[in-house]
Amino acid sequence: MKALVYHGPGQRSWDEVPDPVIEQPTDVVVRIETATICGSDLHILKGDVPETTPGTILGHEAVGTVIEKGAAVSTLAVGDRVLLSCITSCGRCRFCKETRYGLCVGGGGWIFGHLIDGMQAEYARVPFADTSVFKVPPELTDEQVLFLSDILPTAYEVGVLNGGVQPGDTVATVGAGPVGLAAVLTAQLYSSAQIIALDLSDARLEKAREFGANVTINNGSENALTRVMELTGMLGADVVIEAVGVPATFELCTELVRPGGRVANVGVHGHSAALHLEKLWSRDVTITTGLVDTFSVPQLLKLVAGGQLDTTPFITHRFPLSETMLGYDAFAAASETHALKVVLEGEPVAAERAPDKDLAFIG
Ligand code: NAD
Ligand code: ZN
Repeated sequence: MKALVYHGPGQRSWDEVPDPVIEQPTDVVVRIETATICGSDLHILKGDVPETTPGTILGHEAVGTVIEKGAAVSTLAVGDRVLLSCITSCGRCRFCKETRYGLCVGGGGWIFGHLIDGMQAEYARVPFADTSVFKVPPELTDEQVLFLSDILPTAYEVGVLNGGVQPGDTVATVGAGPVGLAAVLTAQLYSSAQIIALDLSDARLEKAREFGANVTINNGSENALTRVMELTGMLGADVVIEAVGVPATFELCTELVRPGGRVANVGVHGHSAALHLEKLWSRDVTITTGLVDTFSVPQLLKLVAGGQLDTTPFITHRFPLSETMLGYDAFAAASETHALKVVLEGEPVAAERAPDKDLAFIG
């Protein structure tokens, strides 16, 4: 099969590689029909993620069809269309039993396109399939559910739910990339009174208004603290969501939050950030951190099916899966291409929606 292979910092190519096979009885093999690229893939390519070894197939967000299953897989059938989560759950360890799948110590967690081969490929091996994938309701398209692999549950779980957003809250999101915009979208599920989006890019802020932000602030050209104070009766925001991952934005979040408010850090940080306890100690502020668990995917699927959540506006570009290299070029040059999410489309298969689940699927 063909796949996007990481060959060390700065190097990727679309290679011919061996087809994946069932290695454990709990595995399935999935034919990838729709995939996408994440900012984390770019981090790996920059060399920021040393545990990802050269030769790894990238990608951890996709929808596909089960073409082969291991002997122990009991809840999935060949022919099932499934959403592959960025997080794998062994289903048995202490953390999986607490639905903290991101912390799985039984062989799961963030492994796809990181510690094992990922999904920017024609086929992928999916470990712990019963406890890790989500069947896609037949009425929903791949594109409607694709971003429930990662950015939607990330923003919702680590931003909105960890931040404890309540009806009537003022929510400020620092960073209006795909994750920050997903926080703008999912904060609206809780009828926030006011959503303030901050970013350095006016193009991203325009997107934030399209996604439902009431107010946008370019914190490169405006004084963000002054503006947020004016907008909140000089108190600060009830909830501030950090969706960038640099020290300056974390520190900004702790300035923008009101006394008694909550800062939910979502950004992946590569450097230490200052925690200004000399200012914060008396302000009753709660700060949360987290890796996405994807426990909210069933709930998000229901919201998509019910029409309360539309994630298709994230799509700015589409490429055939065979042109994944061009997809990366467009995604990596987001400041020029205004890319948010790039959809990679596998070759259509006539039999893929066949009602007979026992049909033989040929890889
Ligand atoms: P992105 O890089 O596409 O977007 C970041 C946005 O922040 C951009 O729009 C950029 O213009 C803006 N920005 C940069 N510096 C800024 C500053 N000083 N002030 C305000 N805005 C600034 O990233 P993304 O894909 O949206 O992801 C956001 C963060 O979430 C990343 O750190 C990513 O690694 C992280 N993430 C975390 C998890 C998790 O489980 N915790 C999961 C996925 C992604
Ligand atoms: Zn586990």
